[in-house]
Amino acid sequence: MESLKDYNTFRINAGCNYLEIIRDENQLLQYISSKEKVSCRIIGEGSNLLLVDHIQEDVLINRIGGISVIREDERTVWVEIGSGENWHQFVLWALENSLGGIENLSLIPGTVGAAPMQNIGAYGAEQESVFSYLEAIELATGKKYTFQKEDCRFDYRESIFKNEWKGRFYITRVVYRLDKPPHIINKSYGVIEDILNEWNITNPNIHDVSQAVIHIRQSKLPDPKFIGNSGSFFKNPIVHAHVLQILKSTYPDVPNYPVDDQYVKIPAGWLIEKSGWRGKKVGNAGTYKNQALVIVNHGKATGREIYNLAQEIARDVKNKFGIDLVPEVNIWPG
Ligand code: FAD
Ligand code: NAP
Repeated sequence: MESLKDYNTFRINAGCNYLEIIRDENQLLQYISSKEKVSCRIIGEGSNLLLVDHIQEDVLINRIGGISVIREDERTVWVEIGSGENWHQFVLWALENSLGGIENLSLIPGTVGAAPMQNIGAYGAEQESVFSYLEAIELATGKKYTFQKEDCRFDYRESIFKNEWKGRFYITRVVYRLDKPPHIINKSYGVIEDILNEWNITNPNIHDVSQAVIHIRQSKLPDPKFIGNSGSFFKNPIVHAHVLQILKSTYPDVPNYPVDDQYVKIPAGWLIEKSGWRGKKVGNAGTYKNQALVIVNHGKATGREIYNLAQEIARDVKNKFGIDLVPEVNIWPG
């Protein structure tokens, strides 16, 4: 049996029967052709994963590398990245090359190939705004496909790969479209502006925005190197405006962000905190002291303990606010 402890940021000691580290497309095609029927799961860095039990399928660890400029014009550079590259290293590469568009997404853990899976987003930006296309291999057939942005059906922490095509494709390369200077600076997320003001930066560049995001993240989120976690456990619920009005009659201070003219997003962390869960510990699991939306492993938690805690939290939020919390984290097996 192989342990997956080093391949998930919750540091859960679940196992699998067979594990292979995939370093290029040929190795992947060889793996596929060696099987009568492929039955496998893919892990990048395991930073959006909760393992609640032994994994019966083969586990492929994605380490397909490489980064190259494939095209450019006077405003834009198209960059092709191997899906096993680390996302933040890609952000640093872009900054070094004065390319803009992903600086708000600094310090998000995980691989480039997992970024389109849930259309990663943070601090007022989402990967879809710089996404061009991706290449993927169908696991059942070994056939190569190219998917354009419209094929991927990106949405709030969603894509077709997390839904209809779940488990069907291995994403091998992603092409992003980055901006040459002059860059558009995105300070729409209030706390970025606050930090830049605190640092007396009135005319920020992409490096300043990246530094501000890194600073905020390091002060607020647990580093998985020291405390096991998978970031936000639940998605922020999107509710109809009339639900917000009802909530406001009891909680006038409920934070909310418009999604469109009918729907609003309510921070799941606020709902969890108001339900009394921030910083609470249950056995070896708990919620993080600075952000209740992050469930943490205090050392020896099993995946089941974390899962049970998440269920309990979701139940309490439902009872108190009538709002369903949906996990953002991928729960395996399942
Ligand atoms: P994994 O966890 O390994 O896999 C996630 C899913 O993608 C699985 O279903 C897996 O099978 C699938 N998958 C992975 N690679 C491939 C591939 N090549 N082909 C097909 N399927 C694949 N997320 C955000 O969106 N915004 C944030 O700000 C953010 N902050 C975080 C902060 C912390 C501290 C942590 C721990 C997590 C955070 N996350 C955030 C979640 C996580 O970092 C992202 O979802 C990331 O993209 C996951 O990458 P990964 O390589 O670790 O994916
Ligand atoms: P926060 O700043 O405490 O805010 C709570 C939530 O309110 C956020 O999740 C965000 O939604 C929303 N929000 C706040 N200001 C907003 C604005 N100006 N415009 C639109 N929405 C706003 O959140 P946090 O937990 O510290 O996280 C900060 C950012 O990093 C967020 O964007 C969050 O998504 C991201 N993050 C994600 C993960 C993950 O695992 N997915 C983990 C850590 C941080 P959005 O989530 O839609 O932005």
